[in-house]
Amino acid sequence: MRNFYSITRHELERRCRETGLPEIHASTLFKSAYKTLSDDPLGAPSLPHKMRSAVGDDLEVRLPSATKIQVSRYDQSVKFLFEMVDGSLVESVLMPERRRVTLCVSSQVGCRQACTFCHTGRMGLRRNLEAGEIVSQLVAANRWIASHPNWLVDLGLPPLQRVTNIVFMGMGEPLDNVDAVADAITIMTDPLGSGLALRRISVSTAGHLEGLAQMLSRHPDVRLAISIHSPFDAERSKIMPINRRWPLLDVLTALREAQTQINHGILIQYTMIRGVNDSLRHAEELVRITAGLKVKVNLIPLNEIDPSRFASPAATAIEAFRDHLHHSGLRVMIRYSKGQDISAACGQLVTENTFVSP
Ligand code: SF4
Repeated sequence: MRNFYSITRHELERRCRETGLPEIHASTLFKSAYKTLSDDPLGAPSLPHKMRSAVGDDLEVRLPSATKIQVSRYDQSVKFLFEMVDGSLVESVLMPERRRVTLCVSSQVGCRQACTFCHTGRMGLRRNLEAGEIVSQLVAANRWIASHPNWLVDLGLPPLQRVTNIVFMGMGEPLDNVDAVADAITIMTDPLGSGLALRRISVSTAGHLEGLAQMLSRHPDVRLAISIHSPFDAERSKIMPINRRWPLLDVLTALREAQTQINHGILIQYTMIRGVNDSLRHAEELVRITAGLKVKVNLIPLNEIDPSRFASPAATAIEAFRDHLHHSGLRVMIRYSKGQDISAACGQLVTENTFVSP
């Protein structure tokens, strides 16, 4: 059986055509699944009785079960630990902000890129998520928002009923699973479904250039976030093994090429690690290598969760780094991980529950 949430509206329309049903029923089905958030979209009263047998007899509505939900005391972000049908655990984080609600979704169970400071990287790659397993994280989060109407109101925020932005910054390297991620984006942005704008979806990559080319051919307007983490090639290879396959220079060349086609800025993510990449020498080189690119830099102090050889930088080092970038004309923000009390950072909940050695 295929997961209903993996199916695009166009495929449903094709199925309708092939079985002699009007295509309009595919739109009704999509609205029922993604706008009304129905438990049983194929059984919507406005659909003909034979819809399920004609169009959906090989489809199963598979929502992941939330085995753990934690709400941060500090910023009310909500972390979900979702269990997929095969028992795989992935996490998603819902982050309330002033005029938007962002959902950070996972694209893989684990990750093969093995960045040395990353909890998910220590798991290795268990498997790719299917498009429906990505989309269903959005559906489950929207259902949680609908059942907690006071969540945003208590924060003094507008009562947004739905997720407004998606970031592919959860578990996994999204461009290592590019077909499923691109399909999920097609479904999430369908105007008759969740209707998210493409400019409100960010795909974050450690520099997977093969996947980047494919993603831009499918969704040229999707927002891109590139994790740099070190502006020096040899140092970057030490903390991000993907740099040995796609070196920094090639990544920067690809970004320059991409910016000739896209009309928006690229986000540079820079996780700051004490004594590894937090010096002024690194800040100066980061300015040099990004010259001419339209970028904004997010400095993310490493979120220390368990004893590790890596530590977060001193506040003075973070500020000096930020000031250097700012005075050099770069747009820069310091972003602390949301929900630090609930480990709402890359892969941490899952590793906490299943992979940390006693
Ligand atoms: S930082 Fe991202 S790409 Fe690197 S191991 Fe972690 S999840 Fe994978």
